[in-house]
Amino acid sequence: MAKKEFKAESKRLMDLMVNSIYTNKEIFLREIISNASDAIDKLYYRSLTDKSVKVKQKEFEINISIDKEKRTLTISDNGCGMTKEELEKNLGTIAQSGSKTFKDQNEHKKNIDIIGQFGVGFYSAFMVSSNVKVISKSYDSSDAYAFTSDGIDGYTITKDTKDNYGTDVILTIRDDNDDENYSEFLDGYRIKQLIKKYSDYITYPIKMEVEHQELKKGSKDEYETISSIETVNSLIPIWKRNKKKITKEEYDVFYSDKFNDYEKPLRVLHNSSEGTINFNTLLYIPSHAPYNYYTKDYEKGLQLYSNGVLIMEKCSDLLPDYFSFVKGVVDSPDLSLNISREVLQQNRILKTIAKNIETKIIKELGDMLENDREDYIKFHKAFGMQLKFGVYNNFGMDKDKLKDLIMFYSSNTKKETTLKEYVSRMKNDQKVIYYASGESIDKIDMMPQTEIVKDKGFEVLYLTDYVDEFVIQILMKYDDKEFVNISSEQFDLDTDEEKEQLKKENEANKELFDIMKEAIPDVKEIRFTHRLKTHPVCLSTEGAISTEMEKVINAMPTDEKVSATTILEINENHEIAHKLKYLFNNNKDELKKYSKILYAQARLIEGLTIDNPTEISNLICDELSK
Ligand code: ADP
Repeated sequence: MAKKEFKAESKRLMDLMVNSIYTNKEIFLREIISNASDAIDKLYYRSLTDKSVKVKQKEFEINISIDKEKRTLTISDNGCGMTKEELEKNLGTIAQSGSKTFKDQNEHKKNIDIIGQFGVGFYSAFMVSSNVKVISKSYDSSDAYAFTSDGIDGYTITKDTKDNYGTDVILTIRDDNDDENYSEFLDGYRIKQLIKKYSDYITYPIKMEVEHQELKKGSKDEYETISSIETVNSLIPIWKRNKKKITKEEYDVFYSDKFNDYEKPLRVLHNSSEGTINFNTLLYIPSHAPYNYYTKDYEKGLQLYSNGVLIMEKCSDLLPDYFSFVKGVVDSPDLSLNISREVLQQNRILKTIAKNIETKIIKELGDMLENDREDYIKFHKAFGMQLKFGVYNNFGMDKDKLKDLIMFYSSNTKKETTLKEYVSRMKNDQKVIYYASGESIDKIDMMPQTEIVKDKGFEVLYLTDYVDEFVIQILMKYDDKEFVNISSEQFDLDTDEEKEQLKKENEANKELFDIMKEAIPDVKEIRFTHRLKTHPVCLSTEGAISTEMEKVINAMPTDEKVSATTILEINENHEIAHKLKYLFNNNKDELKKYSKILYAQARLIEGLTIDNPTEISNLICDELSK
């Protein structure tokens, strides 16, 4: 049969593998064992729900054997196996969902990251093997097929024979060279050590033939080599073990293996509850968002076990949406094995466990925020947006649980800060919480309105995530302090006298503004302002919709379009104010042209588009040519 080429992305990953940019070669074994265990899980799970699938739980096992002469290491399982098509689909290409992103990220991320993101699974075998042969027989088929590959060249799939259903992965270990000693992977002790290190928690027995020296019968000093089949792993899942005896490394290894994330998690939460409902939870807070986290492809959920037996891969009811980033395992002997998905949703036990989990996560995050700021900021960079959605969703039903966990950038500390911290720093004469919104910190910094607020020593929260303003609106207040957008007309820092003076000034210039408004009917109002220090103009908004929200809402794929109610504000102390007054008395046509230019400027500063760029461009040119 002709050799087939691996798909392009698989080939690149394979390149990485073969050329071993990833130095931790030994992980290949846990990847293969983990696949074997998953395959058994699949078959076992089927046997629970499908009466025609007759398998005995106690027969499930993973076998490891070594042939030093042939330099092969074989990992066999009696799990679900693969059909010819499945061999092709599963081993001939990387999972479809991952491949595109793999390509995108490859451009600017270090290779090592890619491996971390997807887990390399099966492909890691090529780090240590010159040839990989996978003989598999699906539980649903009477034929066996073999997938064979030397690495990047491609692979073949041929008909083969195999007695029982399941899969044999036969690795031909590479020859040693100056840099690498591959033969260690043909050493029984070394393999045993690796199984202990990485795969101890696997819930099926991992058996291998182990040789050891024993005194010859009847002899005092003569030894003979005895070989026996031994179960190498301890079979007790990590979440059922005593947490005092589990090392950080064991937790991390379990995490990376189970959840395919090679970056260490930020936090591990391991608990067991006894009482009316008994359950163990082992939860992880990842340190970065998976590549598809903020897409609809991402599925939240925890693995659900009943006394060590997997009953659901991703039980979504165990996690609220705002904690969808949490990974982990829940095991309760009180849950029935045959429980169906629909019944599960209504399940009282599950609800109690979910409540307990939520409380634990909130507590853990609060603790991280207080005691491990750096980690928390990292966490918030990855998942803060999700928490903010949580505040906003369901009409703010969960906002009280989450409001102390979200952060915004602060003009004072130049870092992320919580609302609680902001309020604790508020000046005595400050009554409200100031915020500004824009696309980026730099852009907000450059906004004309920001200057004077900072000048007067007030702290401003910079809202740069597009959900931020919606969050602020749903919160309404924090600690009884209202939020005020420094671009809204509500905002002012003036004393009563200053306000009075400005009011008079604006009244005195009413006719000037009327003429201007004829030229720019889109604005609701035009007035002089004190909110600007050196800049000539800005737009402020009235009502619930700010210009940032206008942008966000109008970018959504719905027909609903909104526009903010805008006010053109002109710096009373700027030269331009005098010029406008002069034109009002001497050249009203020119005043109208000025109005159009000023309004266009203010819109551009806000990041809004202008409807008539050619007209504005010509007007500016006319003025320049004068
Ligand atoms: P992952 O395990 O992360 O999905 P792998 O590259 O390790 O990625 O494996 C790809 C797929 O091949 C698996 O999802 C599984 O469907 C299939 N597979 C691998 N090993 C086995 C096995 N021993 N038995 C049955 N299917 C397997």
